[in-house]
Amino acid sequence: MTLDQLCLHTITTKPWSLEEAIDHYQSAGVGGISVWQNAIEAMGAEAAGRRLRASGLDVVSYVRGGFFPSVESKARQQAIDDNKRLLDEAAAIGAPLLVLVCGAEPRQPLSESRKQIQTGIEAVLPHAKELGVRLGIEPLHPMYADTRSAVNTLGQANDMAEAIDHDHVGVVVDVYHLWWDPELEQQIRRCGTAGHLFAYHICDWRVPTTDLLLDRELMGEGCIPLSQIRQWVRDAGFQGYEEVEVFSSRYWEMDQQEFLNKITKAYQDYVHKAKR
Ligand code: ZN
Repeated sequence: MTLDQLCLHTITTKPWSLEEAIDHYQSAGVGGISVWQNAIEAMGAEAAGRRLRASGLDVVSYVRGGFFPSVESKARQQAIDDNKRLLDEAAAIGAPLLVLVCGAEPRQPLSESRKQIQTGIEAVLPHAKELGVRLGIEPLHPMYADTRSAVNTLGQANDMAEAIDHDHVGVVVDVYHLWWDPELEQQIRRCGTAGHLFAYHICDWRVPTTDLLLDRELMGEGCIPLSQIRQWVRDAGFQGYEEVEVFSSRYWEMDQQEFLNKITKAYQDYVHKAKR
């Protein structure tokens, strides 16, 4: 089986530099790469873009913008400026999508934060359109509603994308954040129909989870109904990359080539299982 529909997030193999990640992903036959900000800090976006274009890898997205809400207007403006710069970097590395971790402000209601997120996205939208970089609203699990995201269900992300109503704004479905939601099937169908399903992130939920950020599991090792969700995503018309995004202190301690072998094996098993 080929791995040309598989994309890896650079954060998944965090100990590797961008250059190491590119070399190893290519050797493994992986088709795509989603580049995290920290991976290009050392070399800068322009040089990273040259290196990525010279590789055979498809740049799927740049991660991550967002963090729009604040009780202070100065901070909200700062976030808008930061996101414009991130869009420039996305364009420089050849990424067609900037993933948004939208942010939340614990000093105000979530509904207020969602309004500020929408205002922030609308403020950077002309710049995104000019650069040809799309914006993907990624809902985060409610356990992150304190500071990371006030958008916690796919329904809320769909509401926002539909309210903004622009071909450069859509949603990102990440199984880690959404697997528990009883409305998931219906909401995946909804964003597929609207043309808003921009990206699909996979991993698994480790049982028991010992850390709420850095203990994600590889596909097949946890409790997420991956075959079911994959089917819904495909039925919704999504034909893009399946992006493996795993933050895990345990896996980062491993030899990263060994870990990469585990990832490609887990991905193949996952695809095989889903096809049965
Ligand atoms: Zn994700």
